[in-house]
Amino acid sequence: MSRAFDLIVIGSGSAAGSIASRCRAAGWSVAMIDKRPFGGTCALRGCDPKKVLVGAAAVVDAARALAERGVHPDGLGVDWPALMRFKRTFTDPVPAGRRAALARSGIEAFDGVARFDGPTRLSVNGDALEATRAIAIATGAVPIMLPIRGSEHVMISDDFLELDSLPSSIVFIGGGYISFEFAHVAARAGAHVTIFHRDSRPLGQFDRDLVDRLVTRTREAGIDVHLATGVHRVETAGARRRIIGSAESGDVVVEADVVVHGAGRVPDLQDLNLEAAGVRHSHAGVAVNEYLQSVSNPKVYAAGDCADSSGLPLTPVAGYEGHVVAANLLEGNHTVVVYTGVPSVVFTIPPLARVGLGEEEARRNGLQFGVRHENTSGWNSSRRAGERHSAFKVLVEDRTQRILGAHLLGPHADETINIFALAIRAGVPAGQLRQMLWAYPTQAADIPYMISPGDA
Ligand SMILES: Cc1cc2nc3c(=O)[nH]c(=O)nc-3n(C[C@H](O)[C@H](O)[C@H](O)COP(=O)(O)OP(=O)(O)OC[C@H]3O[C@@H](n4cnc5c(N)ncnc54)[C@H](O)[C@@H]3O)c2cc1C
Repeated sequence: MSRAFDLIVIGSGSAAGSIASRCRAAGWSVAMIDKRPFGGTCALRGCDPKKVLVGAAAVVDAARALAERGVHPDGLGVDWPALMRFKRTFTDPVPAGRRAALARSGIEAFDGVARFDGPTRLSVNGDALEATRAIAIATGAVPIMLPIRGSEHVMISDDFLELDSLPSSIVFIGGGYISFEFAHVAARAGAHVTIFHRDSRPLGQFDRDLVDRLVTRTREAGIDVHLATGVHRVETAGARRRIIGSAESGDVVVEADVVVHGAGRVPDLQDLNLEAAGVRHSHAGVAVNEYLQSVSNPKVYAAGDCADSSGLPLTPVAGYEGHVVAANLLEGNHTVVVYTGVPSVVFTIPPLARVGLGEEEARRNGLQFGVRHENTSGWNSSRRAGERHSAFKVLVEDRTQRILGAHLLGPHADETINIFALAIRAGVPAGQLRQMLWAYPTQAADIPYMISPGDA
């Protein structure tokens, strides 16, 4: 016998949470299914645990950066097992906490793989569930299959975040944000780290000039970065791994204790049997309209990393898309997604951040704008932190003085970018940002100088 709910939500991460809680608060009966412990990627295997590790690595780096400038960093280092124990104090309580919160709000939780049996029917672990109003797919993303020989010797980001001891050498495949962030952590913790990236340009979503500086900084942190070098084979070499990449100049061979896959993630749709529900999809995710409704099954919506929307695969976007889905379920299709002013950060040391348009993108769109781009390593804000690689690029439209995009590398870039995000999303023009009174000396107090040299 099947059980009926107004809404069935597949997944228990950021997107699923906002859909389920809003619909439940409106009085709907709601079921939530997850095949892994409840809580989703960000809280258990992504942003949150990663930031705990980055925090410790940044402390070590900050002290070293001020060596001979008033700080004795001797003896300072990362105690990896203790750091992992600390990390687990964040992650371990999440599944039980989530389950308790769901129970309190009257959302029924189901463990297991959800699989469609029809347009509004699912099975999970032997239970048959029927949705009377809608099904929301919020299944997130998983690492893409690596098309290389020996991929079975490569671990994924989940495994890296569970390493009980720090390997003495690590290779990351792929030059995206996960590889860069983990590489920066591992290097500060004492590992010898190598990144292989198949193109000449890593971190392709970020400003090219700032990325170049970050690559320099990454190399100065002791990390070997091989660009335009695609890994095509991983072999075992005793207990170690041998990684073979090919560059124009020939093969690059590196041996390491572990190899980590940081070469991209894809929507996790493979278990869902979407064909049975007539839900159109591709490798980019569930095909949705501007209301995040399936283009082929009106009873199905999708949000977060698994949806083929133009939103970035980031936690705030997943949560926001969840809210949009909930609004459209509860009020009919009225709310469309708006992705203006979504910030994105690479949590390296120092961090790299962006919001709005990139310079190349703005030119392609035919916009008329001014660019302020400066190396800020001589500014007080970087000098007092001992940071030798920092810069910004800010794009302001000529006619409207609207901020089109902001790109920051340096101390606290991850926080300062939020102010630019606010300006872009709320339409605060450059002139008003310039006139703000900023607490001093903070990183945000640099903002007027990033917008207009006249104030410097
Ligand atoms: C290492 C790492 C670091 C990251 N760092 C950041 C960061 O700093 N900032 C940021 O904004 N984003 C970061 N992200 C991305 C962020 O974690 C995701 O964008 C976000 O978690 C997506 O949320 P979601 O709700 O779409 O999916 P998820 O949180 O991934 O939840 C999907 C859930 O669906 C479940 N599921 C899948 N298929 C089925 C099925 N058939 N049946 C039942 N359950 C199923 C999965 O088990 C999973 O729990 C990071 C990701 C990783 C991997």
